[in-house]
Amino acid sequence: MSARKILVVEDEAAIRDMLVFNLGRAGYEVLSAGDATEARSAIADRHPDVILMDWMLPDVSGLELTRQLKRDAGTREIPVIMLTARGQEDDRVAGLEGGADDYVTKPFSSRELNARIRALLRRTKPAEDAVMAVGGLSLDSASHRVTIEGDEIQLGPTEYRLLLFFIQHAERVYSRSQILDRVWGGNVYVEERTVDVHIRRLRKALAAHGYDKLIQTVRGAGYRFSVSGL
Ligand code: CA
Repeated sequence: MSARKILVVEDEAAIRDMLVFNLGRAGYEVLSAGDATEARSAIADRHPDVILMDWMLPDVSGLELTRQLKRDAGTREIPVIMLTARGQEDDRVAGLEGGADDYVTKPFSSRELNARIRALLRRTKPAEDAVMAVGGLSLDSASHRVTIEGDEIQLGPTEYRLLLFFIQHAERVYSRSQILDRVWGGNVYVEERTVDVHIRRLRKALAAHGYDKLIQTVRGAGYRFSVSGL
């Protein structure tokens, strides 16, 4: 399992550098952005697991950016922790109503922040270390075992990650490049055709019981994992 990615959105370089350093030491892969524009491109390219969002940013406020992210189906699920010097109850309410998942008031200790991040990752990733089932197909993310109607099927590591991604993001169409970003990671250079190769392998592994139909090709758009195929 690769390191969880955290995006730090903070315009004050000293605070940003301190956060990047501390979170890196805590084992996270850390990305950073100094304003909302940089944040948007980091989110689109790298799809972080958590965003630490400063309230006061030079272009668009952290609150407004959070609202925008929570309105967009592609970014809605990314948990956001608001960072702010404000400690007023009204601001806390506004932050949470704007869609923030948690709220930390400056100054905070890195221990407190790390604890909040861990709690948020646990809360927002209930599918981790769980058994997920679609019809007779079952995936156990703790043991990495996949069974169909009780029979264990063998998947390569990439096919396993693809299947896990699809089960967690069913009924939505993803382009090849989105699948590459989310399953392979945005910093890896892989051709889009590679996605087709692994989809083919995954379908083949699922085909014995007719479960290959779960993975639908959407012409001109990409792929969709849908129970309507069963
Ligand atoms: Ca700021």
